[in-house]
Amino acid sequence: MAINRKMLGKLETVFMYMSHFFLACWPEKRPGLLFLTDSAGRLLHLVPLSVKQKWKPASFAYEVGDDLTAEPASVVRQALVSGQLAWTEQAEQDCICACAAIPLREQDGRVRATIGLVVPKHDFPYDLASYMQGMEPLIYMGYDAYIKRATSEIVMNANRYHRAKDFVLCVIKQISEIVDKGCCSAVRLDDRGYMLPQERYTVPGGEERERHLSEIIPRFFNKRITPLVADENRLVIAPVYCEGTPLYAFILHIPPDEADITYDVRDIAFLQNVAEKIRNALMRAVISDQIRREERKKDLLYKLTKQIQASIDVNDVLEEIMKSIRQLYPYAEVDLYLTVDTNTSLPVKQLTFQAGQDAYSSQAYMEGKLVVGHRRDGAQEVTVVAAPLLGKQGVYGVLQLTAARGSHLLSTETDYLSILAETAGTAFENARLYQQSRNLINELRLINEMTQQLNRTLNLDEILQIVTRMMLDTFRAQHCAILQWLDEHRLVVTSASDEKDVGRQVAVTEQPVEGILREGRGVIVAHSEPQPVPYSLRLFASLMGVPLWRESKVSGVLLVSDERSNVFSFDDFKLLEIFGQHTSLSITNAMLHKEVERMVCTDNLTGLYARRYLDEQVTRSFEQDEHGSLILIDIDHFKQINDMYGHQVGDEVLVQVSRLIKQCVRDSDIPARWGGEELAVYLPNVNTSQAFIIAERIRSRVEAETRPRVTISVGVAKWDRQTHRQVSMDTLFRKADIALYDAKNRGRNQIRLA
Ligand code: GH3
Ligand code: MG
Ligand code: MG
Repeated sequence: MAINRKMLGKLETVFMYMSHFFLACWPEKRPGLLFLTDSAGRLLHLVPLSVKQKWKPASFAYEVGDDLTAEPASVVRQALVSGQLAWTEQAEQDCICACAAIPLREQDGRVRATIGLVVPKHDFPYDLASYMQGMEPLIYMGYDAYIKRATSEIVMNANRYHRAKDFVLCVIKQISEIVDKGCCSAVRLDDRGYMLPQERYTVPGGEERERHLSEIIPRFFNKRITPLVADENRLVIAPVYCEGTPLYAFILHIPPDEADITYDVRDIAFLQNVAEKIRNALMRAVISDQIRREERKKDLLYKLTKQIQASIDVNDVLEEIMKSIRQLYPYAEVDLYLTVDTNTSLPVKQLTFQAGQDAYSSQAYMEGKLVVGHRRDGAQEVTVVAAPLLGKQGVYGVLQLTAARGSHLLSTETDYLSILAETAGTAFENARLYQQSRNLINELRLINEMTQQLNRTLNLDEILQIVTRMMLDTFRAQHCAILQWLDEHRLVVTSASDEKDVGRQVAVTEQPVEGILREGRGVIVAHSEPQPVPYSLRLFASLMGVPLWRESKVSGVLLVSDERSNVFSFDDFKLLEIFGQHTSLSITNAMLHKEVERMVCTDNLTGLYARRYLDEQVTRSFEQDEHGSLILIDIDHFKQINDMYGHQVGDEVLVQVSRLIKQCVRDSDIPARWGGEELAVYLPNVNTSQAFIIAERIRSRVEAETRPRVTISVGVAKWDRQTHRQVSMDTLFRKADIALYDAKNRGRNQIRLA
């Protein structure tokens, strides 16, 4: 059987110390052998008691590893069996050899080893039994010496480290090596002396040990840690306090897979001794950690201040803050709540303003000041610190830290967290102001450009096109359209980013148009569903619409939409409203202009074109067309109508004749009032035979339908490019006039061709 060194632990080392003390009080040059066996009687150490010793009794010719219980008269066996001191004497060749063994017992009474002495009887004038009894205090002295030495070595080694973490790791590693049973761990204590489970260290050696520590810690939640031995000597805890400040708890623990082992009184005393001796040095390391942290905090603030000045990007500042907070408070959970849009890549939470997880953050947000609160998280109590991202103009979100209650990391650091959060708030503010001023400039530029472009034309179609193009450019949306009334039930698309949509109709009852028309107010829609929803023109997830106005009535709608969600901001919407106002104005202007033009070109009484317009159109036709005809009409004996019925009836007759003329010609023809009761129709691209037919239709209807009845005389003239290289208004009119004159002469109520 191999010697179980683990079971023996440091006893061998202690034996070596003890043998030094023993040698110091042993008379010089007197031979003898001091030995140590394990609980099975195997020889572990054999120490000759005098230098250059020649004495070697034949009855004790053993080597390390030999079984000392083999002989029937073995004192070792007697000592092991009886648990008492045993001694014997044996005659050698030239002397009597005395041999004694004393058992070393555990607290539980189990014999763990024996220490023995072999001497020549004649050289040993004392009573061997009582001499052996005096051995026991020496063992304790040896043990004390060993502990002192080991402890001071631990303190010395650990002192090389300035960080508490490295210090503690160094200590537990050494304790572990010396105790050599189970596992040594350390857990940080909070300012009440409770364990901070997040901050714990275990010597490396497999998950089993880590898991075991995780099982132990919850047993001590919400308890001030005091020295403790538990679990039948398989768990020992020694807390370190320095001048009342809790620092760490050092723990010796044996995981369940290491059966049959317990800590003995020496292990326990050792741990407690180490805990006692490292107190001041550990405190120094903890304080120097704090100093370094304060430095880091200052560095961070400095860096943030610089960054705020150097960059307008709020994301840079946010990222720096989050990174540093994670470094400064490694055991805290950090949450960032934002109430403004940013394109940050950080995980951002939404404030729900409901009791529960973010109750403290909601409170901090609403009150605009830092809130500290506590809540239970399973078995553990946690502290929540919620600091508002406060700017001068508002609150932009909340920075929330959650950590085990009492972690000094949080409760005493609220001022600092406030500053960090306010720094973020200021960054938001700067970014917002900057964005606002940029938006304002863009808006002004856009309005300026829009007015300039719109002012260039009074043509309605051009206006609609300009607006459509500018909406597309400005909002970068997939689709935009202008809708105007078709009749009282429908709107029609008069311009759109997609040409194919022009002319399509939308019922006034359809959303989102219906709301805009009914309320006379714009809408901005953001669908949260992943699938865009349809309206009759397009699918959309984002949409903005504003009404167009004419004479305080809604005259149409501007729509901008996109299949992607959250494309439009509120600023976009406000800009679209400005688009709406300018578009309304331009459309109204264009329509007024058209009306004025129409009025200028129209004869008041008859509703026919005025002579000036006729002249213009004929001149244009000369340039564009191949040929054309002019019909000149004069009412017969009109003077008599006036004389007989009065001027007013004369006017009515004139209106009747004019209406008949309009009914007999096409839209492309130009019926006009040429003089007092002389009327004319110009027919572009119409030859005389066709013109004659039209003239005849007019003549016969006038004769048949006027009341009081009148007749007309008509002269028709034509021009064409082939025969008339040079045509002029005058010639054409003169020719028609001559034909008319001819008709009069031939008895009136007839048509003559020039
Ligand atoms: P005819 O042409 O057949 O030779 O006889 P007429 O009586 O129609 O003679 P003419 O064409 O020369 O006379 C024009 C008259 O038409 C003069 C004027 O009293 C009348 N007249 C011209 N303009 C108007 C008008 O705007 N309203 C009315 N009620 N009468 C008009
Ligand atoms: Mg006339
Ligand atoms: Mg006449």
